[in-house]
Amino acid sequence: ELYKPNTDRYHGMKYTRCGQSGIHLPALSLGLWHNFGDSDDFGNAKKMLLGAFDRGINHFDLANNYGPSAGSAETTLGKVLAGELKGYRDELLISTKAGYDMWPGPFGSWGSRKHIIASMDQSLRRMKLDYVDIFYHHRPDPDTPLEESMGALATLVQQGKALYVGLSNYNAEDSQRAFALLEDLGVPCLIHQARYSMFDRNVEKALLPTLDKSGVGCIAFSPLAQGLLTDKYIDGIPLNSRMAKATFLTENMRSDLVVGALGQLQELARSRGQKINQMAIAWLLNQSAITSVLVGASSIRQLTENLQALDHLQFSEMERSKIEQILAG
Ligand code: NDP
Repeated sequence: ELYKPNTDRYHGMKYTRCGQSGIHLPALSLGLWHNFGDSDDFGNAKKMLLGAFDRGINHFDLANNYGPSAGSAETTLGKVLAGELKGYRDELLISTKAGYDMWPGPFGSWGSRKHIIASMDQSLRRMKLDYVDIFYHHRPDPDTPLEESMGALATLVQQGKALYVGLSNYNAEDSQRAFALLEDLGVPCLIHQARYSMFDRNVEKALLPTLDKSGVGCIAFSPLAQGLLTDKYIDGIPLNSRMAKATFLTENMRSDLVVGALGQLQELARSRGQKINQMAIAWLLNQSAITSVLVGASSIRQLTENLQALDHLQFSEMERSKIEQILAG
């Protein structure tokens, strides 16, 4: 059966200018870190991609190594881009990254020019694309001159393989140095991708003010702390949840302190007519410098529920201070 996208797809979504660039990002973006690999159900992955597109989520975030197996999330997206989404490339913002372990040997990781450029070429082949919209250096490399890594990003833009570049997991100081280098190369940094949620507010001290000052946008990853900021872990660890299955969300992260905070957040969210995850997304969208909230999902039901965060974005002074009080433990 032929897929026909929802003709209303841009109406329910909010789009925000990314830093001082010309690009607008949807309030919610979809990440393919988990649930889109070749060990996952392709039908479910496709349903989420098309369901996202139908609801105005026109930004998909990937990396060379997303899967498992590494690279297979890009292959999955490539199949859908060549299939149902054929003809819609210009409505989509597709990002990928290099910098974490991808192939064996000294060039398979980190920040050399060799790694970055070879990885981009591999990603394009897997996605069957001529270019990506945003290409990120995934993490800083302490052993490679920043000039080399930033030079490689600029080359990719000059070669037409990326339209914009971004940084991820860089601290405020390194970001600032990188922004200056990129500026000199004529390829200003579009965006910074950083871990940010109610449970991880590290970026508030130095990074977000730096981004604000530099006119660089910010996309927040793991906004639900990988699913912790939902009601699902309050009473235990459900079978089939990321904590039960995967390696990056471990049982010790479900501490008594966390479970206590979740109970209080749930009560506050209920008084706003929301669930914890919806309140957590709305709260992030209110933070300065945040352009988009980059969620993950294992089902279209989760994605739809998260989107409903947009129905209630405002917070009263009392709600804000209650949140501060809960998060302070
Ligand atoms: P989230 O914090 O949004 O966690 C997503 C997970 O939470 C889902 O897979 C699901 O897990 C659970 N979840 C989501 N919505 C609901 C819901 N409504 N009800 C119940 N459970 C829900 O983000 P991720 O950690 O997945 O990160 C998002 C994206 O950010 C990644 O895909 C990637 O693109 C990017 N990222 C970037 C990094 C970087 O270094 N630059 C690092 C990490 C992520 P389940 O159902 O399996 O329990």
